[in-house]
Order: sequence, then C-alpha cells, then structure tokens
Amino acid sequence: MELEMNKMAQHYDVTIVGAGPAGSTCAQKLAKAGLRVALIDRRTKLGNPVQCGEFLPTSHEMLDMLPSCKRASRLVNVPSQFIENKTHILRMVSPKNSEFQFSLRANILNRADFDSSLAMTAIDLGADLLLGSRVIRVDNESRLVLKNNGETMEITSYVVVAADGATSVVAKYLGHIFTHDPNDISPAIQFVLEGCEFDDDVTEMYFGSDISPGGYAWIIPKSDNVANVGLGIRRQFQRDNAPLIKYLQRMIKKHPLVAPRCKKAKIKARVSALIPMGGPLKKTYSKSTLLVGDAAGHVMASNGGGIPTALAGGDIAADTIISYLSEGTPLSEYEKQWRVEFGNELDSALRILHIADRVMPSESLTDICMRLAGPRFLKHIIRCRLPIAVDLASKTFVSILRYFL
Ligand SMILES: Cc1cc2nc3c(=O)[nH]c(=O)nc-3n(C[C@H](O)[C@H](O)[C@H](O)COP(=O)(O)OP(=O)(O)OC[C@H]3O[C@@H](n4cnc5c(N)ncnc54)[C@H](O)[C@@H]3O)c2cc1C
Repeated sequence: MELEMNKMAQHYDVTIVGAGPAGSTCAQKLAKAGLRVALIDRRTKLGNPVQCGEFLPTSHEMLDMLPSCKRASRLVNVPSQFIENKTHILRMVSPKNSEFQFSLRANILNRADFDSSLAMTAIDLGADLLLGSRVIRVDNESRLVLKNNGETMEITSYVVVAADGATSVVAKYLGHIFTHDPNDISPAIQFVLEGCEFDDDVTEMYFGSDISPGGYAWIIPKSDNVANVGLGIRRQFQRDNAPLIKYLQRMIKKHPLVAPRCKKAKIKARVSALIPMGGPLKKTYSKSTLLVGDAAGHVMASNGGGIPTALAGGDIAADTIISYLSEGTPLSEYEKQWRVEFGNELDSALRILHIADRVMPSESLTDICMRLAGPRFLKHIIRCRLPIAVDLASKTFVSILRYFL
C-alpha cells in the first residue's frame, strides 16, 4: 500500500529509511514474516535518477567472491527483465595503457526498474511505502520525523533500519561513530553515453592520477552503443581542484583508448553521487537501530561495488529483527552475522585499497605494479582477495621503489 501523509503519529513494528536494494530487501522479508513495516524514501520515483554503473556480478561469480554468503548469490539472481546486457570480461587499463583482462561474468542491470520492483514486491507482501518523504530527525532511536511536500509527519517503531545511503540521516542522529569519515566518501560522476562504440561484452576500468585520482574510471556497456561511463575520485588524492566533470570530459575527449570510440557519442544522462570507500563502520547496530548497505559502509573497497552486500545485508538485518521481536535475540547478532558472511572480504578489499593508495599517486609505480600483478593476481584483487604473495611483495616492493622514484 502507498501510504498517505497523515499528521497523526503512526506506529509500526519496523521503519526502514531508504528504499534502495538494502532497505527494500529488508522490507520484503519483514513483511513476509507478518510484521508491520513502513518503507520510506525521499524520492518520488523509485530508482530515479540512477546513481549506479549497474554492474552486478552473476550468482556464480558471487559464490566465488563471497563464498560464505550464499544468500548474496541467491539475491543477485535477478529476473531477466531487469538485465540490459551481460559482460563476460573485465579489462583493467594502467595509466600507461597496458591492458590486462580476465573473465568476470556480470549482468548489467536496469537499476531503476530493479529498485522499483524490489520495493513493489515489499508492498505486495504487506509493507507500507511512503514516497517523497525525507526523514529530517530521529528522536530516541524510535520516533522519526518526516517532511513531505512541506507537511510534517511522525512515525514510531520498535526498530529502525538505516538504509539511507552514504550520508545517512538516521546514522547522524546515532552519533559520529555511526557516520563515515568525510575523507572516505568518494564523489563519483557518470554519463550515460549514446552512440559510443565499446565492446558490449567487456567492462573496462581505467587507472591513473590524471583519470581518476585515488579511484578509477569505468565503462560499462548497456548495449551495442550505450554505456555507463563514469569515475570516482577521492579528494585527498587530487592534485588540483578541478571538478569531476572535467576529468570525465577529458577522458572521453582525449584518452587514446577511449576518445576514438566516443567520437559520435552524446550524453543521454548524467548523475553525481557518493560512494563510501572506507570499509564497514566499526559498529552497525545500536539500541534499536541497524545500519545496512552504504549506510553501514558495505561497499567492496577494491571495486566500489555495493549492490550485492546491500541485498545480503538487508536480508541479514531482517532475520535479526524477526528474532529480536519474537525471541529477544540481541540486535548485535546482525553485525556478527554479516561479519561471518562477508566481513573478511570487505576487510581484504580495504587492505587492497590501502596498498593501492601507496602506489596510485605515482603513475609509473601503478603501471609497474599492475604489470607485475598481471591478470593472474588482478582477478583476485578485484574479487576482494589479497593473495599473500601480493601482500608481502607489495610491502617490500613499494618501499624499495619509493626509495628510487
Ligand atoms: C556513480 C556510482 C556507481 C556505482 N556503480 C555500482 C555498480 O556498478 N555496481 C555496484 O554493485 N555498486 C555500484 N555502486 C554502489 C551502489 O550503487 C550502492 O552500494 C548501493 O546502491 C547501496 O544500496 P543502499 O540500498 O544501501 O543505498 P541506496 O541505493 O543509495 O539507497 C538509499 C535510499 O535512501 C534514500 N534516502 C536517503 N536519505 C533519505 C532520507 N533522509 N529520507 C528518506 N529517504 C532517504 C535515497 O533516496 C535512496 O533511495 C555505485 C555507486 C555510485 C554512486
């Protein structure tokens, strides 16, 4: 049911702020268990604008990437009507244009339709959806104050789920240990390009401090001639104050491997958004609140992907809340469980990013390291695995090279 604004405070068992993949997945399971659930989003149209590259590894890849999280593999198995393209190869390009490619199977989503369908399924299962409603305040972890078209409304509940992304308002009201360090939040920009000529079977990642300082640029083909082309930057690695759009325009117009394939390209849409790249928060539960998805920092720092862990985290949160409300199981179980299922991979991904942070400011060093790693190791690194050989070699090698360069 789509909920109408009502000045009276309404009560629910659980209120979920944010109808992205994390919030809607959580809402589905809670509603199916018969709980009274409110799902709130500030957007008026779910999934719009799309702030995502729409790259989702297949179920098979997820089993390999997050082997202890079987539910991730199940949840990424999206119906074919939400899949616009499939890519089989991941190509990584160094700052000096060395190319390394390996197999990585992914579905390229129609994220707007996918997000919308997740929320609609939650409604079908009995959740109430309140769109166009921005949570502006949280009192005592249980009373949410919302604004919708200038009207104010209050909702109370036993449990609140913060699924409201990297700059979660709910988290802000819990205190600073529940919010991301601003340095860890990476601004990102993306164009949807039409009329470009990229391989429709290959997702590409470009590295270099002139391309995307502290991050990478991506080309994710959605069809023969349409692609999501974007980049993320971490400000502390930027040498100038140029806006992100300048970096993206430069890549599209000047990069020797990109520009020739964008000669006839037109920008169909553009978005900017934030990606939390600092790894999971130390604490993701409180007295009666759970943090899920980007709000919890559940983004794989070695590749910037957060959809699989948002889906899985939302599902784990729902299991915990059901046990909490029926049997009094502590909410801390949520954190224990996600750590068991994908905590190691998120930690490894962050260690990989920290190694990359020492390398990436130098284009020569990045190039040498990518050559040394080659597809054999890069394919593990992108899958959040840090081979011991790479860990040890990188520490020794980076210190030696830094001495000479
Ligand atoms: C440019 C870009 C490209 C990306 N590409 C990929 C990719 O290709 N593959 C991948 O796996 N990941 C990608 N990611 C990351 C991925 O999009 C996120 O990790 C994922 O969406 C997290 O899901 P979520 O449900 O936690 O949050 P979100 O999807 O961000 O949903 C949060 C929801 O909360 C709502 N909200 C926020 N504040 C409030 C409020 N105060 N009141 C009410 N509602 C509120 C928002 O409107 C939003 O709908 C990308 C991110 C960006 C920015």
